[in-house]
Amino acid sequence: MAQEEDIFKKLISHSKEYGFVFPSSEIYDGLGAVYDYGQNGVELKNNIKKYWWDSMTLLNENVVGIDSAIFMHPTVWKASGHVDAFNDPLIDNKDSKKRYRADVLIEEQITKYDDKINKEVEKAAKRFGEAFDEQKFRETHPRVLEYQAKREKLHHRFAKALNDNDLNELRQIILDYEIVCPISGTCNWTEVRQFNLMFATEIGSTADGAMKVYLRPETAQGIFVNFLNVQKSGRMKIPFGIAQIGKAFRNEIVARQFVFRMREFEQMEMQFFVRPGEELKWFEQWKQIRMRWHKALGLGDRKYRFHDHDKLAHYANAATDIEFEMPFGFKEVEGIHSRTDFDLRSHEKYSGKKIQYFDPELNQSYIPYVIETSIGVDRMFLSVLSAAYTEETLDDGETRVVLKLPPALAPVKLAVLPLVKKDGLPEKAREIIENLKFDFQCQYDEKDSIGKRYRRQDAIGTPYCITIDHDTLNDQCVTIRYRDTMEQERAPIDRLEEIIRDKVSLKNILKKIAES
Ligand code: ATP
Repeated sequence: MAQEEDIFKKLISHSKEYGFVFPSSEIYDGLGAVYDYGQNGVELKNNIKKYWWDSMTLLNENVVGIDSAIFMHPTVWKASGHVDAFNDPLIDNKDSKKRYRADVLIEEQITKYDDKINKEVEKAAKRFGEAFDEQKFRETHPRVLEYQAKREKLHHRFAKALNDNDLNELRQIILDYEIVCPISGTCNWTEVRQFNLMFATEIGSTADGAMKVYLRPETAQGIFVNFLNVQKSGRMKIPFGIAQIGKAFRNEIVARQFVFRMREFEQMEMQFFVRPGEELKWFEQWKQIRMRWHKALGLGDRKYRFHDHDKLAHYANAATDIEFEMPFGFKEVEGIHSRTDFDLRSHEKYSGKKIQYFDPELNQSYIPYVIETSIGVDRMFLSVLSAAYTEETLDDGETRVVLKLPPALAPVKLAVLPLVKKDGLPEKAREIIENLKFDFQCQYDEKDSIGKRYRRQDAIGTPYCITIDHDTLNDQCVTIRYRDTMEQERAPIDRLEEIIRDKVSLKNILKKIAES
């Protein structure tokens, strides 16, 4: 674990050093859990958003997009349940004065049992080699069974406390399991309290009666209140979906994990409207589609898993998370929820407007049910970056840090490097960029040795470096150097566009999703 935490620290400083992520307002010592994206970060983030947007709106004829405002009428948040129920259970350690989410402390304790079980399995796998039967081992080994029983007991008690909204019981679990504050190391805890996560502000001047409004804590409500607008103006037939990418705001209690948990972040959400009674079928379908979307990036299938919710939100009848193995363990990147007709029904009630769909096939009107897929752009960004970050020792004993980003997501697609700063090589390099810049993000670099320039490009994940040498002027060929293998290959200048396009296109990844 220590080694993984070490990697996480390195990743954070690498992100800053190479223009991916900066702390907000850094010259004023920053603002807690708020970050800015730098010149490379914004490109990577935009590519992630495009990958999601295209997969929703190009691959599905019946999914369209919108872009709704951040400010909404305050009654929206009453109807959605956020004013009354968008709370986290918080607990303070009296010695360190640090604040935690009680549910997260307990979840981490559960993970400790999982870690212990996995260690036993790993040890045994090494000992038995080829002959190892993992399933049998998990079902019969006494120590594994003991950990498993302890885990189940805690998990059961925790899920019950959450579902009963029993704050005293949450605290009691923390005390009974002697969960200590990682800073002070003590068990000196306060009571558990509920804390509403919405930020409030005012619209209008106070003189003529300002109105209290909230910064939206999710983008989904902008979709619900526009359901009829989109359905009617687009003549949409159920089932259909509405997708949106936008900022959301939550006054998070614990915000210590870089861009994983921020107070201002970005979501990519899609609400899929279906016939009542068909929602669980669609829920299963979207679970599979979304997992394919993640895996198609090639970051490693074993890094993903589903995690079903212990406590269903007030609006849901099924929910699961897609978790990714971050440097600090498996964590939620995306939530998939079957939200029933809760939101539309509630907006109908609070607004007094009929929000129904007439189904011509059934000859009947109803409030549609909703499947939601909700993924955080920033968490996706962090998962891509942490899977890509690699430290390598080369044959000559030198080390390099390389971001093995999927080429379609890389901020810079190719660097064009003249071998020397004279003899017409810079001019030739510029000429190549002039041709390719309409299609790809290109970078020109002539400073330092070619080796140093390769390292700089490795550090930001540029998949291809093009080197111009003296032969180029005669044979119109360049050397392409591949980031991951460091292999080099000669190619004619007039084929560059075609070669690079094939390697960096989102189309090939989207096809993988569509075909599977
Ligand atoms: P968590 O349990 O980690 O607080 P959540 O279950 O409240 O997350 P959702 O309400 O389901 O999260 O939000 C959907 C997605 O939005 C999450 O899967 C995550 O990727 C992203 N997200 C939520 N809160 C944050 C945050 N504070 N910072 C960054 N991304 C977030």
